[in-house]
Amino acid sequence: MLNISPDINFKKQLKKISKSSLNECMQCGNCSVVCSLAPDDRPFPRKEMIWAGWGMKDKLIGNTDIWLCHQCGDCSTHCPRGVKPADVFSAVREISYQHYAKPKFLGKILNNPKWLPVAILIPVIIISAILLMAGTLQIPEGPVNYSKFFPHAWLNSSFAFLWFLTIGLGIIGLRNFRNDMKKQNPDVKSTGSFIKNLFSIRKEIIFHSNFSKCSAQKTRKIAHFLVFYGFILLLFVTAFAIYAVVTHNYPLGLTNPFKILGNVAAIMLFVGIGIMIANRIFNKKDFGNSTYTDWLFLISLFLLTISGIIVEAARFLNWGLAYHLYFFHLVCVWFIIIYLPYTKFGHLLFRVVAMVYAASIDRRLK
Ligand code: SF4
Ligand code: SF4
Repeated sequence: MLNISPDINFKKQLKKISKSSLNECMQCGNCSVVCSLAPDDRPFPRKEMIWAGWGMKDKLIGNTDIWLCHQCGDCSTHCPRGVKPADVFSAVREISYQHYAKPKFLGKILNNPKWLPVAILIPVIIISAILLMAGTLQIPEGPVNYSKFFPHAWLNSSFAFLWFLTIGLGIIGLRNFRNDMKKQNPDVKSTGSFIKNLFSIRKEIIFHSNFSKCSAQKTRKIAHFLVFYGFILLLFVTAFAIYAVVTHNYPLGLTNPFKILGNVAAIMLFVGIGIMIANRIFNKKDFGNSTYTDWLFLISLFLLTISGIIVEAARFLNWGLAYHLYFFHLVCVWFIIIYLPYTKFGHLLFRVVAMVYAASIDRRLK
């Protein structure tokens, strides 16, 4: 016997975020016909849409399939009632960032615009406190040298500590998410280790192959590719920059290969984010509803990229405002890497965990 426990507040939240008229779904199944992820034996996403209409939070939060969805929008395009399943699932994922957040308040302040000033104030206060402890909370004299403002040892150790802390907290949330996925599949036994299953989905991660199946949003794969690999390249260059600091070879000259790679990464990010923003503004029909969480992530990444380029130029051109811009850039870095599990960037972790779990129960990514 199926126990139905509707959560009216959850349904209201879903409607508010997705702007979808959930009750209009007539269960025609068009969305399941067009969805490239729908297995032959499970009507995805039709059944999730009836659960959404009934406010069944416990069926939707911790639902593996909702994280396999890559928001191609095909289901929304072919829905005869304009119910927009893609936007409903995007809203479920947004609520999940808050549901699994540790500590809870970080999930709350990063997914609600009224708390944005607090989300900004936290890094401003903590970075200022670190500079105060380092004894460098002032604008240095002479040519621009960021290490005089934020000594490398302080910068690398404090940001590394905070990043490991936030990833540790994120892992607690992800473990709860994985347990919820298991609870929703009590009759299915997982097989293989995490690493083995991760290896089995390497092609999907490397080539984003499921994105190729989107018919409504052709440019999505290109934009996602540019941002994904641009970010990985940036992390690689950052790791080299830390090595250069430790071996006293920093700063890097403009013609240094790693500096050139860093600039290539910035261009890739810039173009990818530009396509994403343009699609959300000019192609609402196919890209659906854009939420505060979508915009916070895109704008943070855009500001991180553009401020990184400006900060580099400010050093070479000795601009008076260089240190203020550098401080602003560090706040942007915080929004992307320290807040990672609480923002839309967290989909990177949630989606991989869901894909690994799907592989462990042989839920094929068609
Ligand atoms: S969401 Fe739309 S396409 Fe899917 S079952 Fe409901 S009415 Fe049909
Ligand atoms: S957005 Fe695409 S992947 Fe997600 S449910 Fe709809 S059709 Fe399937």
